[in-house]
Amino acid sequence: MAHCCSDNEHDPLAKSVEEARASILAASPALVDTEILHLGDALGRVLAEDLRAAQAVPAWPNSAMDGYALRSADGAGPRRLIGHCFAGHPFTDPIGPGECVRIMTGAVVPEGADSVLIQELAEVNDEQVVPQQPPRAGANIRQAGEDLQAGALALQAGTLLRPAHLALLASLGMAEVKVLRRLRVAFFSTGDELRPLGSTLAAGQIYDSNRYALQGMLQRLGCEIYDLGRIADDPERLEAALQQAAGMADLVISTGGVSVGDADYIAELLGRMGSIHFWKMNMKPGRPLAFGQLGEATFFGLPGNPVSTMVTFYQFVRPCILKRMGSNGPWTAPILKLPLAHALQKKPGRTDFQRGVLVSGENGLEVAGVGQQASHIMSGLAHADCLIILAAEADGAPAGSLVDVQLLEGLV
Ligand code: AMP
Ligand code: MG
Repeated sequence: MAHCCSDNEHDPLAKSVEEARASILAASPALVDTEILHLGDALGRVLAEDLRAAQAVPAWPNSAMDGYALRSADGAGPRRLIGHCFAGHPFTDPIGPGECVRIMTGAVVPEGADSVLIQELAEVNDEQVVPQQPPRAGANIRQAGEDLQAGALALQAGTLLRPAHLALLASLGMAEVKVLRRLRVAFFSTGDELRPLGSTLAAGQIYDSNRYALQGMLQRLGCEIYDLGRIADDPERLEAALQQAAGMADLVISTGGVSVGDADYIAELLGRMGSIHFWKMNMKPGRPLAFGQLGEATFFGLPGNPVSTMVTFYQFVRPCILKRMGSNGPWTAPILKLPLAHALQKKPGRTDFQRGVLVSGENGLEVAGVGQQASHIMSGLAHADCLIILAAEADGAPAGSLVDVQLLEGLV
């Protein structure tokens, strides 16, 4: 197998982020198993079928304002007040010529009325209402079906349900929805140096932090997660862990153990167990990346450096998970173009994912780097709310130039 080159030189054989993501997405089939959930339990789940409106929303014409329901044909003439209607309490008689009813927002517009005069434009004396200007037909009335016509497509299969989707489905009276089951994701860390939280560290040992990042990112995506802990750098244990993970999950993630020093024996092991590619990525951080199939499961071998783990997760694993969950996208986080608050340094060769923060500048939103950018500097990522993406060929970016920015917060 080919080995990675040193950190800064350009490697013509390295794979671009887009190329790798396209291969990954092409090999990521959507789940098919479904389940029925109460609407209140469906946040973050993916709709398994198109949903149509069984009835119009709103079902009846109703008032958009507090005022008087009347007939526009009567012009500016005085009206006789014949009753009241409130939300949930309709006025059931028709409105005749020269008549009106007091109406509140959300109340059904009575038969015969075609306009609502807002109360600020009404002069009211006892039972008589005089419009201050001639009412316009249709004014301040929300027509039936204005939101959704009966039979209209309300939401498409593949919609990842957010709070507004739940409200829309509730407005259609849907108490239950058919969604795809959760994606099962198993993950573990590799490394003899890793110790669990709560233990005392001997020289050379570190706490296993990657699993907490993974757990958080997977929880946000609504996955069913299986934390298989830390596995020592031992081929037999690794093989057993991979087998266990592939047997229980749709997707398996390991971190660490795919760098140059480890690649050969892992490659051999994975080669026996499934079809796995080892990619030298043309990106920084996150150079070594393993991807493929372990039995029925999708497999990712992410680099061990915590920043690399998270950056490669956002660039490759998250899109794969969203597609496998059945979401119809977008699978990648949107890219914003924002001006740089100050110059950024970079060597030409690899696409850089620098950690950044949004700041407000004189002319609006800008983005700034968070300082130290090495792939073991977790505090940089912890203070960041976005990634600044600098193209492979770029040798830095001057202050004020527009750069590509991917938000990290606000993502599922
Ligand atoms: P590796 O990819 O196994 O060569 O690891 C690269 C670097 O990341 C080494 O400094 C490891 O100690 C570190 N590392 C690997 N796994 C973890 C982990 N789970 N938590 C924190 N650091 C890790
Ligand atoms: Mg290691």
